[in-house]
Amino acid sequence: MPELPEVETSRRGIAPWVLNQQVRDVVVRDRRLRWPVPADIDQILPGQVIQSLTRRAKYLLFETDAGTALLHLGMSGSVRIIDVEEPAGKHDHVDIQFDSGKALRFRDPRRFGSLLWTDKPQEHNLLRYLGPEPLSAEFDGDYLWHKARGRRVSIKQFIMNSLVVVGVGNIYASEALFLAGIHPKRKAHRISSERVHKLVQAIKSVLEKAIQAGGTTLRDFHGGDGEPGYFRPKLEVYGRDGEPCRRCERAISVIVLGQRSTFYCKNCQR
Ligand code: ZN
Repeated sequence: MPELPEVETSRRGIAPWVLNQQVRDVVVRDRRLRWPVPADIDQILPGQVIQSLTRRAKYLLFETDAGTALLHLGMSGSVRIIDVEEPAGKHDHVDIQFDSGKALRFRDPRRFGSLLWTDKPQEHNLLRYLGPEPLSAEFDGDYLWHKARGRRVSIKQFIMNSLVVVGVGNIYASEALFLAGIHPKRKAHRISSERVHKLVQAIKSVLEKAIQAGGTTLRDFHGGDGEPGYFRPKLEVYGRDGEPCRRCERAISVIVLGQRSTFYCKNCQR
């Protein structure tokens, strides 16, 4: 599943081909995505210029004078830039074609993603209740500590809740908790202010490193076939059960927490 760093990498990869470009046509081959692609999107978007391309949580926002197209990559979605005439594959559900002769192609084999249209993105139901961006100044130790008062849920589930903070998926939640030395099952309200501050810095650090690593793949978003080559930095605990901890050399453990595999070191995380 694309996590926040992959979505941000996608945004940076496609931006040069999309920004300030006029839409010539929108081709929707299959509207039956997680939410149906509204028919008016292919009526309104042609003729519009993409004024900005931003990211909120894991949504990409293509802003025009007429409104904003909202793209969610879902479980298996990806975007890339192609020549308009390139034949579409089975899972290439939407093309946004530009006057430049290039197109943005959205591929999604499992169809959990979608393309939506909104006049007021800040008030859209999918965006309005979201917590702060993890890399914003708003998300700091004081914010998370206050938010954790009275919360008896495990700290891992707490930081993965998008109402608390967006974009901390399963991989980076495990990684950040390792970096901060916090046991993933520890209850959110039982963690000291000092350790919560440390956790916030760890979350920012693992996400920034992953975005930097993704920077090496930016040119994969133009041309080629198949999926853009997302790249992950070296992971400390995620997917390493049974392998030695890089700090203490004891075996990394795996448990299931909130139906998600959770990797941690029994010795380094308390
Ligand atoms: Zn360890």
